[in-house]
Amino acid sequence: MDVQALRSPIGTEKTCKTWEIEALKRLLLNCLDPHLAQDSEQMIVYGGTGKAVRNKSAFQAIIKELETLAGDETLLIQSGKPVGKFRTFASFPRIVASSSMLVPTAANWETFNELELKGLTSYGQSTAAAWAYIGVQGILQTTFETMGEIAERHFCGKLNGRIVLTSGLGAMGAAQPLSVTMHGGVAVVVEADKQKITKSILNNYCDVVAESLCEAIDLAEEAAKKEQPLSIALHGHAGDVYMECVKRVWIPDIVTDQTAAHDLLNGYIPSGLSIKQANHIRTKKPKDYLSLAGVSVVAQVRAMRLLQQAGGVVFEYGNNLRWQAEQYGSKDARLLPGFTAEYIRPLYSEGRGPCRWIALSGNPEDIYKIDEYILSYFQADKRVCRWIECVQESIHFNGLPARACWLNYEERALLAEAVNQMVAVGVLEAPIAFTRDHSEGSSMAAPTRETEAMKDGSGAVADWPILNALLNASSGASMVSVQHGGGVGIGHSIHSGMTAVADGTFSASKRLEHVMNADAGLNVIRHADAGYESAKRSVRAFGLKKPL
Ligand code: NAD
Repeated sequence: MDVQALRSPIGTEKTCKTWEIEALKRLLLNCLDPHLAQDSEQMIVYGGTGKAVRNKSAFQAIIKELETLAGDETLLIQSGKPVGKFRTFASFPRIVASSSMLVPTAANWETFNELELKGLTSYGQSTAAAWAYIGVQGILQTTFETMGEIAERHFCGKLNGRIVLTSGLGAMGAAQPLSVTMHGGVAVVVEADKQKITKSILNNYCDVVAESLCEAIDLAEEAAKKEQPLSIALHGHAGDVYMECVKRVWIPDIVTDQTAAHDLLNGYIPSGLSIKQANHIRTKKPKDYLSLAGVSVVAQVRAMRLLQQAGGVVFEYGNNLRWQAEQYGSKDARLLPGFTAEYIRPLYSEGRGPCRWIALSGNPEDIYKIDEYILSYFQADKRVCRWIECVQESIHFNGLPARACWLNYEERALLAEAVNQMVAVGVLEAPIAFTRDHSEGSSMAAPTRETEAMKDGSGAVADWPILNALLNASSGASMVSVQHGGGVGIGHSIHSGMTAVADGTFSASKRLEHVMNADAGLNVIRHADAGYESAKRSVRAFGLKKPL
């Protein structure tokens, strides 16, 4: 198989029996497109070793099944491998998937890695196994919203003249520099892999490269003084650079990190190792590698704490860095806040979350026409309109054209129905797939991230993502998945994904309405149940039914 040729088909000709199935096939191929995926050869999509399918033969079998699947059949995927096909109903999902699930006593990386080596499971991350990955454009708004909330909370609503120090220019991390400059700020991003730096510059996510910390500081200070946005990539090790900043008493306004620390073995480079050395030691001596990585994360968290004590706004950005540091002896990692509990959670109470839509035609005009609809009909939602205007200016599409947007409860169903109508009358060239990130109010239970410090202490309760998946399947989603370990790693999260297709039919319009209302409505209900007053107000305002 030539992986370089992996790419979603575009246009209006389909090779599957229905557009619903064609959509799922295109989404899978889009995830594995070498322009988007981290390593198409290994079927790795993003986030350490996050996979869309188990291996190449599983991939080929899935494509074959999709091309023959009937409109009233459901294909079962077990950790990236097709394992069965059953006759169900036309309005039930075409695909149900479960990935990386382990019984609680076995839910650790050691057991998972052993099972993966035996070929029995694979790591699905979040959007990888749900085939909803759209590259950096998918995470950009979440990072943009986080930076916006930080600006509101600490810097009078803007980041002009402010400096953000962070690290990691991987699939998710690469959204950081652009989301800072979109708010007018200056970003210094430390990255251990020179190739990732080159990719970020080529994709216009990052502006310039500094050859040394000294140069990075000079460039950052100069831009901040002029209140000009600028993003600077710096080759190096996050922990080493952060500690050097402490020694130089250079305290950036905001400090965080998006190395893939959730998986220390595959996603974090220990101090002093080149990428080549890291690759060698992690395969030959994994225990030694983990010890080195453990020492490094402790040192990195120590530096972040010192920058926090010196006045910086410092937080963990959803990669489980604090928990990892604690395992290797850090005593005060918990004094760094997590980004969801600190900045994002209030948005969940409005039913907002990172939903996204993908133009199966491959025609960017389809996305721009949907943008126009939003700008015309959702004018009252300044947050959403500002985002659409910003993103149109600053991002070019990679793979199938797509848009991520934190719509609220009411807007999601309205938009999906309007788009379905636009497909029906031919305003859009081909159907649109609606899907979302897993990092949502009810679809993720992760006590060190999305459900950290819940008001009622329910962070470890994982019934909600399971209810979310069952409800989406009952409402008529086209693909529903349940997964384990995304974002923060094995043992730390249970989550669910959904995709629903707007193919212009009357049946799709009903299914989309039910799925959108169910998916976003459960966000609100989960937070009202946890005691958040704003969510209780949303339950009343949206007329949601919550018996207790
Ligand atoms: P990735 O594997 O694609 O990229 C990680 C990057 O970090 C790589 O480029 C790697 O070279 C770099 N790196 C590793 N160790 C380093 C070190 N010590 N110093 C400097 N650079 C180093 O991962 P990703 O998809 O970008 O995700 C990053 C992390 O964020 C993961 O832990 C992921 O689970 C988490 N995540 C967060 C969010 C969120 O919303 N905050 C969403 C999804 C994922």
